[in-house]
Amino acid sequence: MELNQKARVRFAPSPTGALHIGGAHTALFNWLWARHTGGTFILRIEDTDRERSTAEYEQTIMDGLRWMGLDWDEGPDKGGPRGPYRQTERMDDYINIANSLVDAGKAYRDGDAVFFRVPRGEQVAFEDAIYGAINVASEKASVNTDGSVKDIVMIKSDGMPTYNYAVVIDDHAMDITTVIRGEDHIANTPKQILIYRALGWTPPHFAHLPMILGSDKKKLSKRHGATSVFEYNDMGYLPESVFNFLALLGWTPGDDLEIFDRELAVGKFELSKVTRKPAVFDMKKLDYVNQEHLKSMRPDDRLKAIEPFWRDMKLPVDKYPAKYLEESLTLMGGRGKTTKELAEFSDYFLDFDAVKSRYTAEDITPERRAALKKFFASALDRLQPEEWRAPRLEEFAREWCETGGASLKEIAMPMRFALSGRKVSPGVFEIAELLGREECKTRLKHFDFA
Ligand code: GLU
Repeated sequence: MELNQKARVRFAPSPTGALHIGGAHTALFNWLWARHTGGTFILRIEDTDRERSTAEYEQTIMDGLRWMGLDWDEGPDKGGPRGPYRQTERMDDYINIANSLVDAGKAYRDGDAVFFRVPRGEQVAFEDAIYGAINVASEKASVNTDGSVKDIVMIKSDGMPTYNYAVVIDDHAMDITTVIRGEDHIANTPKQILIYRALGWTPPHFAHLPMILGSDKKKLSKRHGATSVFEYNDMGYLPESVFNFLALLGWTPGDDLEIFDRELAVGKFELSKVTRKPAVFDMKKLDYVNQEHLKSMRPDDRLKAIEPFWRDMKLPVDKYPAKYLEESLTLMGGRGKTTKELAEFSDYFLDFDAVKSRYTAEDITPERRAALKKFFASALDRLQPEEWRAPRLEEFAREWCETGGASLKEIAMPMRFALSGRKVSPGVFEIAELLGREECKTRLKHFDFA
């Protein structure tokens, strides 16, 4: 099938803002298609809006793509055989080709602007890989609000090319095989096809991606909260989760598989399987996807993801060996929907002050306290450092409770509070093991349990 040739696809953002969710979604699907077909992913910067385009935004867009793991093969920073990759660097082409269309009688000048003369009586038909057959009369391709034919501006009076014109010149120059972009561009496609036709060029394939809706079923916008991909990083979402989650907006690898990595997505991705049904951006789903990725990560990768959050919380990360920190996170056993949450939930492994700020031991009655003191005294006395292991500790606690007629819970609960300052935590004996005998002693003593 022709659509399955090695694709040359492009992501063509305007550097007038950060990489937002819609842009990241489009970039992702282009990247998937390029990688799936063993083709080329191109980054093109559409910077003809001189007022709003900035070098900083261009940089944040690139940083955002890198954060998502979407590497490009050709682009303004990398160059490539079909450059330039910034529209403002292709001005001569836009002007020369516009002049040739004027000479051919297919376009005309009006003042400093150049207009494309929309032909009458033609049919514009194309097969969208996602939306199917689309067929428009040329008179309907570009219309005024009253429905009359509206010639298409190619060059504005300030000398700059318009989007609908420049995109044709660029996609042709860059030998793009498939244009993959948001469905809001479906209405522009017939205009662009008419320009291809006037130039005697074959248009690329088109694939328009479904609209993304907020949970209120309205088109996703700033009203729905975070828009830049970096805000998701700050909120504690992993790039692999955002990747996974965005891929699910309009596509699924099948077999009810929801959690996957880049490699699997690349292998299974099919443009023809993308749905045109609007996709809902569901934060609960993103939480779920993120939690699953956090659970299945390699311990060293997980530590790398959590570390910046611990540092933000001013926890003394450098005091501990990586192994200890990795183990503390492994022990958390999938708790925490975000890296941020996981960092917070696990703070007591790094800092006793965090425990003290949460727990004051006030709810333990004096009688109970006396019993606990006896227990911890004998545990600390009888268990040597090398015996300070979860199974041994638990065994010891069980025996002690049996003998004294207490329940294990009576011991475990205050111990959990004293060690973690939390009501919910991993197994208290596992925490005790990882913290070590000395640290446990310090904490228990502080709360007057030992
Ligand atoms: N700069 C355009 C946009 O961001 C590109 C559209 C296209 O891919 O053709 O909407």
